[in-house]
Amino acid sequence: MSERLPRVDNLCKNPDNHKTHLCELLAAGKTDEVAKLQEAPKFVCNNCGKEANTEGALCAPGPMDV
Ligand SMILES: [Zn+2]
Ligand SMILES: [Zn+2]
Repeated sequence: MSERLPRVDNLCKNPDNHKTHLCELLAAGKTDEVAKLQEAPKFVCNNCGKEANTEGALCAPGPMDV
């Protein structure tokens, strides 16, 4: 599974929680929350490429070190 996903916004794998995802928080201008979620990132979003502490904050989470 090494295919690279395109940067498309509709690849959310957990739409029910999308409002807690970095993409949506950024879109909503909640930069404080985003900063907290990126303090010690361990996961990267395969959708938008953002890094986060928890996979629950990402649309398409994957490990940072591939
Ligand atoms: Zn999402
Ligand atoms: Zn994302």
